Amino acid sequence: MGLDTMTRADAIVIGGGIAGLSMAARLANEMRVIVLEAEGACGYHASGRSVAFAHFGLGDRIVRTLTALSLFEFREMESVSGDPIASVHPALHIAYSDQRAELDALQEVHDRFECAYEILQDAEIESVMPTLKIGPEHAHRAILDTGSLRLDTDAMLQRQMADLKANGGSLVTNAPVRSIANDAGVWAGETPVGAFGAPHLINAAGAWADEVARMAGVPTIGLQPRRRTVISFDGPPETDVSRWPFTKTVTDGFYLLPEGTGRLLASPMDQTPSAPCDAAAEELAKATAADRVETAPSLDIRRIAHSWAGLRTFAPDELPVIGESPDAPGFYWDAGQGGYGFQTSDGLSRLAARSILAKAWPGAALAAGITPEALSPSRFARKP
Ligand SMILES: Cc1cc2nc3c(=O)[nH]c(=O)nc-3n(C[C@H](O)[C@H](O)[C@H](O)COP(=O)(O)OP(=O)(O)OC[C@H]3O[C@@H](n4cnc5c(N)ncnc54)[C@H](O)[C@@H]3O)c2cc1C
Repeated sequence: MGLDTMTRADAIVIGGGIAGLSMAARLANEMRVIVLEAEGACGYHASGRSVAFAHFGLGDRIVRTLTALSLFEFREMESVSGDPIASVHPALHIAYSDQRAELDALQEVHDRFECAYEILQDAEIESVMPTLKIGPEHAHRAILDTGSLRLDTDAMLQRQMADLKANGGSLVTNAPVRSIANDAGVWAGETPVGAFGAPHLINAAGAWADEVARMAGVPTIGLQPRRRTVISFDGPPETDVSRWPFTKTVTDGFYLLPEGTGRLLASPMDQTPSAPCDAAAEELAKATAADRVETAPSLDIRRIAHSWAGLRTFAPDELPVIGESPDAPGFYWDAGQGGYGFQTSDGLSRLAARSILAKAWPGAALAAGITPEALSPSRFARKP
């Protein structure tokens, strides 16, 4: 690797998705940061394919706490600057009669996080989501969370890129890192547009994060990318669907979300294991999405207007991986954001940046049990 011609910084971040950008923008306040993105534009992979709805219907206690901390900040940003990154939009979590226990557990979560919500039954559900089939075998009981947020992923990515630049950091696109070496404590990544080196290397490569570790000779985590499919179709004729809630079955099934006034998005909540790749929607997943939507909310999908798929990448315990590798000083992980990378991005980027700067984590996170140990890559270290 040509060390003489290498561009040097204090930290190199591999990956220009929401994870890499949001953490790099914070870090750039304190050190010289360069983000390397393989594609021609940021957000080409998972971050450009997200449905980006922030709610409490997924993840465990840690993920939900990270969501709550991030939502608080998103709401503050909106009220202080009028920034359009988030807008309040209701979420309707529906349960059939035999899913009462799951809905009760989700109600406890809404209580714990002091969400504004109502419990709806049968006809009350129909009044907020008119096309749902109602009854014990269909939507029978529901939680209507009136404080959940719809996120604007493009605005979020743009904002992080602007903050990165304003804080003195830089972004290099079309820069796939193809080899990594460590020479006397400096990590160096070789790309087709040159070599970049720094004492801190941050692996925010999403579905490719284990591949990046392998390139660097660092033990991998066992990350699993899982494909998720979304279809888009016209809503009922002459009906403004824009105020319909984000509607999700309390367990596996489907979710549905308005897109503008006349379109709906739906997903069968598939999670098919995949190798890291440019994911595409498969026919079976599209058909499953259409079938679940047609059998449950009684919508007539005449034509799928558009479809896509993306990879949600999970660690074996489905928690994010944040912190320094126990086997490789200066090599940091910011990976495993699963299906909640946007809704937790404010909290997670704060913690990731503090790990790299060797600063204590905020008291609110520690009090909620979100400790460096809980998210550290050390939890996967092989026992001798
Ligand atoms: C269909 C779908 C729906 C979703 N819905 C939601 C939702 O409602 N709410 C929510 O919060 N989250 C949601 N998510 C999850 C969210 O999108 C992800 O958690 C998040 O985007 C992950 O961000 P990331 O930066 O880790 O990954 P990515 O966005 O994939 O970024 C990783 C980047 O690393 C780059 N890279 C990889 N290897 C290299 C290399 N060697 N050199 C340089 N660059 C490299 C890639 O090109 C890529 O741009 C959804 C995801 C999908 C697919």
